[in-house]
Amino acid sequence: MISFSECYNHACGHFLFRQIITFGPLIKLPLKRILITGAAGFLGSHLCDRFVAEGFHVIGMDNLITGSLVNIEHLFKLENFEFYHHDVSKFVHVPGKLEYILHFASPASPIDYLKMPIQTLKVGSLGTHNLLGLARAKGSRILIASTSEVYGDPLIHPQHEEYWGNVNPVGPRGVYDEAKRFQEAITMAYHNTHKVETRIVRIFNTYGPRMRVKDGRALPAFMSQALRGEPITVFGDGSQTRSFCYVDDLIEGIFRLLHADYHLPMNIGNPSEITIKELAEEILALVGNTQSTLTFQSLPLDDPKVRQPDISRAIDILEWSPQISRTEGLKRTLEYFKSVV
Ligand code: UDP
Repeated sequence: MISFSECYNHACGHFLFRQIITFGPLIKLPLKRILITGAAGFLGSHLCDRFVAEGFHVIGMDNLITGSLVNIEHLFKLENFEFYHHDVSKFVHVPGKLEYILHFASPASPIDYLKMPIQTLKVGSLGTHNLLGLARAKGSRILIASTSEVYGDPLIHPQHEEYWGNVNPVGPRGVYDEAKRFQEAITMAYHNTHKVETRIVRIFNTYGPRMRVKDGRALPAFMSQALRGEPITVFGDGSQTRSFCYVDDLIEGIFRLLHADYHLPMNIGNPSEITIKELAEEILALVGNTQSTLTFQSLPLDDPKVRQPDISRAIDILEWSPQISRTEGLKRTLEYFKSVV
């Protein structure tokens, strides 16, 4: 049964070939095929770019409830990219071979998952179940996008992977946090029971080009407010901390984790911690805005007070650490926001 509702640039049944130049005759091998869910989103679209550039055949999938085709329209002309408009909470079918799956579909900003609590729970649970089933049927290696939200409002700082977290299951963030915790549990169950090759990345706050101006998160909100000369909306007194990773560093960490021999959860993020008030001030200084002032608004319920990844596992196993400083990353991101605000 083919359940996708729309399909663009669909190369079903046709294999593109990669060439291996040897000292003997030219050998042609089919491209490795990878399914990326959430392909039209912020992280999904950067992953599509990376895997297309690495010579994979990329099958992007997205239901476009928060993603945008603008993020991937430049890929549609390529022979090694195709796109399915499909909701992965429903049965997923992909024809042909499939070596890898990256599951990145989900509303991911607090205002999105507050607006779409049931879709958020479904994509983390039913969607993950469907994709694990697909991985099992095709013999694919599957990497699941988990999150620092599994640590909730953490009582241990910085957060290492052995920490079990402090999550309110019935609070406003519970729909996202518990979906992701279930996602990790079912992924481990498929690994242990069906011997599916699984990878779990716990993603900490990430920023860069293609973040939505109005996704409600601090960084795009502050940048667009500073560019427009509007007040900067700091929630609470701004003393809560986060640690922001530039998107290119994150993608490199994910690329390495996919290819590593390691199935337990792995934190990927930048340990450089900053208060939200300091972030607002850094962005104002970068934009060169002397008009905007900080305006303090009430802190959302269950907003974590601190967050910082312990990345010693990624350093040991992936030989990965972030390379792009916040100064450089913010500069690159500002160029993008100037073009969209
Ligand atoms: N925040 C803020 N102003 C905004 C949006 C967010 O002060 O306009 C705060 C939010 O309360 C949180 C921090 O910034 O403490 C990071 O929020 P974000 O939504 O970016 O991500 P989170 O890490 O909470 O998922």
